[in-house]
Formats: sequence, structure tokens, C-alpha cells
Amino acid sequence: MIRVTVWNEFKHEREFESVRAIYPKGIHGCIADFLGKEEDITVQTATFDMPEHGLTEEVLRQTDVLIIWSHALQEKFSDEVAERVQRHVLSGMGLIALHSAHFSKIMKRLMGTTMTLKWKHGEQEKLWCISPNHPIAEGIPEKIEIPQEEMYGEYFDIPKPDEVIFAGWFSGGQVFRSGCTFTRGLGKIFYFQPGHEEYPIYDIPEIQRIIVNAVHFCAPQRMNRKYPECEEIKE
Ligand code: ZN
Repeated sequence: MIRVTVWNEFKHEREFESVRAIYPKGIHGCIADFLGKEEDITVQTATFDMPEHGLTEEVLRQTDVLIIWSHALQEKFSDEVAERVQRHVLSGMGLIALHSAHFSKIMKRLMGTTMTLKWKHGEQEKLWCISPNHPIAEGIPEKIEIPQEEMYGEYFDIPKPDEVIFAGWFSGGQVFRSGCTFTRGLGKIFYFQPGHEEYPIYDIPEIQRIIVNAVHFCAPQRMNRKYPECEEIKE
């Protein structure tokens, strides 16, 4: 079994009726629901308001893949918890960062760049699969039409990805590296752009399939994770 923790800031859904109408259980609840239907995945959720944001040492030790969605509270996120998550990724925990979580302390620490980009509300997106042989693209069509999405545009200040699997084209003309993989230490990371909270994007079956595929891709091969350390050989 792959043990997934879905972490969400869970602020917009409580603040705005319009967002709550789309995600009555929160974005984390929506993602946990469709992941929970998979036979080889067990899911738990955590949110910002829990002690230590719900990402204690104990929780992370029992997490194979962490999924994060964040936006308004990025700066208020604990540095100590961000460092802890980084350490677990370096020791092999998979990480999937969704939409505005590109700008989370966790991603900034792991990527080492500014993670800045351009954005604009209320556009259409065509999400093109440009690496069809990648495991995250399994069963995914050449193009996914997203009727309404916030535009994210280049230049996106990320380090060079291992692979770019999806490219977003927006109705305003911008393009974006919408699905990228990275490796940090022993951990596999997938950044995925779709998922602005005002539109029901995590209800789209193909988007759900991509996230399920990404869980399988990012899961560590060996379940006994150990933080890499310098070691002197004495013989
Ligand atoms: Zn957004």
C-alpha cells in the first residue's frame, strides 16, 4: 500500500461560499475521496490549522507521498515544519505540489529558485501531454480542455526539471510548464499547475488520473527511508 497524506491550507473553502460550493469537503477532501478509491492507496488528510500543520514527525514518517495545496498562508507556514518536510523528501518521501503550492516554503526550499511566474484570472487552458511515454501520462489523452482556469505563464523560475510532462496553453496566449518532475536527494517531486480553487478542476477525471499516476510515480521504492548521511569507512 502507498500511504498518502493530502495537505491543504483549507482557508478559501471556509472563507468563500463560492469555493465551498465547489469543494464542500475542502480541496483535500476532494483529492482524498478519489485517491481513496484506488486499491493500493491509503489516504489521510492534514490542514494548516492543526498543531504543527498536521505534519508532525510521526505523520511524515508514515507518509510515502505528500500532496500539498497552499496559497494565502504560505508566509505564515512554519519554517520548522517546512525544514522537516524537506528532510523527509531528501530521505525518499514523494512530494506532489499542486497549483499555487509552487510558492510554498516547502517547494522554495527544495527547488532553491524564486519560483516566480506570471498569472491572470479567468482564462481557458488546453493542457497538452508532451511526454506521452512517461508513467504520469499513462492513460492520459493528448490534450485536456479545462474550461476555466487561472493562467500561469512563463517565465516560471524553476530549476531545470527532470522531465516536462505537460505544457499548458492559455486563451490569452501564454504557455507554461504545467507538469514537471524533479529529484531531490532520494525523493521524487511532481509539480502540477491545474487547480485554482474557484473552478472545479479536481473533479475532472483526467486531472484525477494524473494525480493518481503521480502518486505511483513519486512513491519511494524502499519503504524504510533513511536520511542520507556522510559516513567514514574504517577498515
Ligand atoms: Zn490560483
